[in-house]
Amino acid sequence: MAYITLKTPTSESHINIGFEFTEFKTQIGKSQVVIITDSNINSIYGSQFSEFKVIEIKPGEKSKSLEIIGDIYKHLLDCHIDRNGLIIGIGGGVVCDITGFVATTYFRGIRFGFVATTLLAQVDAAIGGKNGVNFQSFKNIIGTINQPDFVYCDPKMLDSLPDEQYRCGMAEAIKTSLTRNNKLFDFIDENKELIISKEYSVLQKLIYDSVKIKVSIVEADEIEKGARKILNLGHTFAHAIESKTGMQHGEAVSIGVCKAADISLKLGFLADEENKRIRELFKGFGLPTEFKFDFEELLPAILHDKKKDEQIINYILLNGIGKPVIMKFHYNELKKIF
Ligand code: ADP
Ligand code: ZN
Repeated sequence: MAYITLKTPTSESHINIGFEFTEFKTQIGKSQVVIITDSNINSIYGSQFSEFKVIEIKPGEKSKSLEIIGDIYKHLLDCHIDRNGLIIGIGGGVVCDITGFVATTYFRGIRFGFVATTLLAQVDAAIGGKNGVNFQSFKNIIGTINQPDFVYCDPKMLDSLPDEQYRCGMAEAIKTSLTRNNKLFDFIDENKELIISKEYSVLQKLIYDSVKIKVSIVEADEIEKGARKILNLGHTFAHAIESKTGMQHGEAVSIGVCKAADISLKLGFLADEENKRIRELFKGFGLPTEFKFDFEELLPAILHDKKKDEQIINYILLNGIGKPVIMKFHYNELKKIF
């Protein structure tokens, strides 16, 4: 078991990696506790938290809507949860996003925490306090940044995770590894087989190191005024591809990062050999690295991306493995580069 604390000027978030999920109940009281989870997780793990009140949502991105948020507020009122309540989201990124948003807005904010059950949530989505729902065709544009009191990550819970979801988590872990020196990248590269076979101690280290990197970036810039933008590596295009095609987030991130690496190569930032290594690593986990797209077609989605500032696009490039740079492009320039 390993602990990491994420400290911001206004909060402390306690992250536990490698705890036994079955121990989780012993850590919390029962009164005024509500669990938000999705039906898949409830059917696999629900018997382990059956003594708590549970709000179940449908799995998937579609649940991240204001309508579902409204339904959850109603449930919370029915359960007589007030400002002393505690909401625990048990699930992947979708459950964490919804839980964080509900808990931040209900009674102007009540306590909340996560049991992150997907690799993507353990290495990325559950960490850093971003929450939100989709609106119209735009991803995550309604939301806040607010740190959970706690995050539990149990690598054993990943045993039940479908391969496709597991792969998607690896896309975010590789992305994170590209933002800070080359140690985590090399570790992933050297331990590919053990990661694929979900070897416990290797997973524990992978999650710990990814969280450690993300925590240090978030601590330096919680509200994404500067340094935190590097975590958006690959995401400008990923979000656009996702909203156009409905592709899984992790797969789109893999394509988006490879595109950023290609452009970094073209502009002379990245060596050919490094570009190849990045691509091969994503491929090694069965992730896609290419996607034929028409820039004009993706443009509206890119310009509505919440990271757009006027028509200037913040685009993250790589000066080498582990050396991200934040570049600003007018969209015309970016188009030319494509
Ligand atoms: P992400 O973290 O990728 O955003 P989601 O919250 O969309 O993930 O979850 C992806 C899918 O995996 C959902 O269908 C969810 O019900 C399912 N899921 C989440 N955690 C587990 C798990 N530990 N075992 C099996 N299925 C899971
Ligand atoms: Zn992401």
